[in-house]
Amino acid sequence: MSPTKFYNRLKPMKTKTVFKYMGGVCITIMGIYIYLILFPQVLFSNKISYRNFKIYSNNKIDDKIYKIIDNSIVQLKTCEIYDSTVLQKVFFMEGSFYFTLTRAFSKERAGFHEFLVNNTMVVPKVDEKNNALIYHDGKVCNLAQTIIHETVHSLQESKLGFWRVMKIPEWKMEGYAFYIAKTDLILNNGHLSNKYVRDNIEDLIKHPSSSKHYWMDAVMTGYLLNERHLNFEQFMADDVKEDSTAKEIVDWYFNNSVTHEELISMK
Ligand SMILES: [Zn+2]
Repeated sequence: MSPTKFYNRLKPMKTKTVFKYMGGVCITIMGIYIYLILFPQVLFSNKISYRNFKIYSNNKIDDKIYKIIDNSIVQLKTCEIYDSTVLQKVFFMEGSFYFTLTRAFSKERAGFHEFLVNNTMVVPKVDEKNNALIYHDGKVCNLAQTIIHETVHSLQESKLGFWRVMKIPEWKMEGYAFYIAKTDLILNNGHLSNKYVRDNIEDLIKHPSSSKHYWMDAVMTGYLLNERHLNFEQFMADDVKEDSTAKEIVDWYFNNSVTHEELISMK
């Protein structure tokens, strides 16, 4: 066989082998990436277990975390779907390789939840002593509220199942989690706070295009649970719609513009 003929026969084989090799490497990297996203425990050096929570971090976890979990559970128990047997895994991501892996979509968030595996990811730096999360720009927010919010997503999945949760509109999923985490702001004496609605009436009217739409989702949830007295299943039903609920609250506000709380403040 001439050298040219031999080369022509070898060339396609070599190209095919290289592609096969590259394909194998890519699949392996993707497999490791997906594994680490779903089971990031191996990326964290410190862990504590307390009640139905497991907390993971690469920094020392301050003992104040026990109090934060206790308080979070007190608030979570106000939620109709609370279940103390659902395990909650909470990862403090700051300074971890997990943050590097997910930086593109996690950077600006307080936290996010991974369904199927019940992972609650807390993104900014954690200060347990002050129950605080500290963003890279210095902004501070509440750690317990973030844990409560993300835990509610686990409870939603536990109650409804994964496939149903995937079909529930975002305003109900987020509205319910926001509402449970920040009930004190949204309710007054067990009723939707008239003052809170008044302070946000512009955003409710603009809903869902308002920049505060998550907050408005929580107001709508508070309204449906406390003024319409829907239970969790009724709230999640398909016939409870976003647009009609927002309109209903605006009407409710103008029909109840002088409330008990306003009468007291007028005295
Ligand atoms: Zn959420």
